[in-house]
Amino acid sequence: MMKPIPYGRQNISQEDIDAVIATLKSDYLTQGPRVLEFEEAFAEYVGSKYAVAVANGTAALHLCALALNVKKGDKVITTPITFAASANCVRYCGGEVVFADIEPDTYLLDINKVEELLLASPKGTYKGIIPVDFAGRSVDMEAFANLANKHDLWIIEDSCHAPGGYFKDSNDIQQQCGNGKFADLAIFSFHPVKHIAAGEGGMITTNDEDLYKSLLMLRTHGITKDSETFKNSIDFAAGESGFSEYPTWYMEMQTLGYNYRLTDFQSALGHSQLSRANQGLEIRRKLAKVYKDAFCDKKFIKGQSDVIEGHAYHLYIIEVDDRTGLYNHLRDCKIYAQIHYIPCHLMPYYRSRGWQEGDLPQAEQYYKRCISLPMYPTLETKEQQYVIEQVLEFYEKSV
Ligand SMILES: *Cc1c(COP(=O)(O)O)cnc(C)c1O
Repeated sequence: MMKPIPYGRQNISQEDIDAVIATLKSDYLTQGPRVLEFEEAFAEYVGSKYAVAVANGTAALHLCALALNVKKGDKVITTPITFAASANCVRYCGGEVVFADIEPDTYLLDINKVEELLLASPKGTYKGIIPVDFAGRSVDMEAFANLANKHDLWIIEDSCHAPGGYFKDSNDIQQQCGNGKFADLAIFSFHPVKHIAAGEGGMITTNDEDLYKSLLMLRTHGITKDSETFKNSIDFAAGESGFSEYPTWYMEMQTLGYNYRLTDFQSALGHSQLSRANQGLEIRRKLAKVYKDAFCDKKFIKGQSDVIEGHAYHLYIIEVDDRTGLYNHLRDCKIYAQIHYIPCHLMPYYRSRGWQEGDLPQAEQYYKRCISLPMYPTLETKEQQYVIEQVLEFYEKSV
């Protein structure tokens, strides 16, 4: 008997464990040196200037929305085929989420649908776009950046599925997800099902120094210790006159922030994981090719037809008839496939804000047929073969 096979799982090595233990024995559990080390290594990995480590991917999205000053009534466009957090960050700030449909072939936010929305409303109606590198496949960020520039919008790239992913721009240059060239901000998650696991954790990347500084402040209660920015006088800070510098204890809360910090031991784990990220990515790409080769001549499966360059394969998704039947059959075999995602706009919360069935037909059609097969670096060859066998067996029985 096979042991149960999940759709995704973390891979913790002895080096990861050692890195965490070393941090637990150090002087800092939080707000120590591991955080900045992880941030710098991560920025280098994706090719951005700055990185800010935070408590989780959802906190990353929330801070991005705050840093971009999303306010009540602001309209922001995103995809319905994503984890709810991509949309919810707009609601945290009182903004309105406008979902636009997906492209049926890539499952990514359809730029033409986004443009239709923008052209149908007066300039200034929309403030930003949150495209998602869904399943690990990079959005064409260059095209989105051009559109955003034309309409004066900001972009948050949700790259939770795609650390190490890339697309080729119009000059055929490889552009890493989250490198900050085409988006104001990009975000990542270190939840255990994602490429890099830190228990919980997230990262924001950007090339914009002002946004970077405001993110640092928002991450820690809106407090700063940078005396260059202090608003109160030195006399007030010192409690008496006659001093020419701010006392070293002095700090200011200048804006309403949160405690969204990542701990040092999580940063140590994330950093250690990051050092093996390329290895994991390579295995994911190989697994994808094995699936693709096994299913390529099967009419019942409309998969992501090619092995796509730059795809980070957080998920390997196939589209099938009788999807729920297949899901149940795999479950009976202890293969725990998953469905990504139930369209966000049809969650009861968003229905209560006016969304209904029929609003986004491509996303809704996709949801009826999609299933994510097991995809993670420690998936063994014989386990993957078993998954493939069971998928094929189900369809041979059912025709
Ligand atoms: C996982 C995920 C998030 C949220 O990340 P958490 O770390 O779980 O808060 C946001 N967007 C997408 C696309 C995700 O997959």
